[in-house]
Amino acid sequence: MSLTIGAHVDQTDPLAEAAARGTTLVQFFLGDPQGYKGPEIRYAGGADGLRADAEAAGVDLYVHAPYVINVATTNNRIRIPSRKLLQQHVDAAASIGAKGLIVHGGHVGKGDDPEVGFDNWRKAVEATDLTLPLLLENTAGGDNAMARYLDRIAKVWDAIGSASQADRVGFCLDTCHAHAGGNKLDTVVDDVLAITGRIDLVHCNDSRDAFDSGADRHANFGAGEIDADLLAGVVRAADAPVVCETPGGADEHRADFAWLRDRL
Ligand SMILES: [Zn+2]
Repeated sequence: MSLTIGAHVDQTDPLAEAAARGTTLVQFFLGDPQGYKGPEIRYAGGADGLRADAEAAGVDLYVHAPYVINVATTNNRIRIPSRKLLQQHVDAAASIGAKGLIVHGGHVGKGDDPEVGFDNWRKAVEATDLTLPLLLENTAGGDNAMARYLDRIAKVWDAIGSASQADRVGFCLDTCHAHAGGNKLDTVVDDVLAITGRIDLVHCNDSRDAFDSGADRHANFGAGEIDADLLAGVVRAADAPVVCETPGGADEHRADFAWLRDRL
């Protein structure tokens, strides 16, 4: 199979990071993944320079939104800044010519009605000017999560479907999150496709934790709890570009790419 396999890297010089890994696909954060401070572009040539240089180098860029974004929550003091931060990241990612912005499904509070969260997702998609594809990612855990189990993903997808920009929303399937979140990897691609009709990106990660543990700790391939054939099977079935968010730098990522390629 000739899938593009890349990695999550530092944003300062993502093209050098891509070259060091022998790949044409990289993902990175634009700023602090744990903070509400807006995005920043650290590439020496700025946003325009990065867009032009990536295009010239034939490198596809993906941006991962900060983890703190939770557009589903019933808490105004989180939901409102989350929407603002989401728009800022959409704009910044579009300015560098990124192929997509990946955002986690988020969650509602422990005692909250999840229906409110599904509708908050619809409102967030309505309220955001999606100048590039927004890729909703499944999560491993979180109390009352929106995108851990398939029934919830289906409800979020249903809600988003009635928004005017629904066609700008895609799906990012994370293998570590699916496994630790309690979704069987031998059927998860078909299960997700039955709901969304699309998988735009795969986050391929092994998991340090057991099936359905709810923990989110990525591992290098073969070093975690996920069966090698199942992991490769997800990548094969999804047939989408792959980002390895595995530990280490260029050497570890090259080893992970080779491990995966051997099994495709
Ligand atoms: Zn991921």
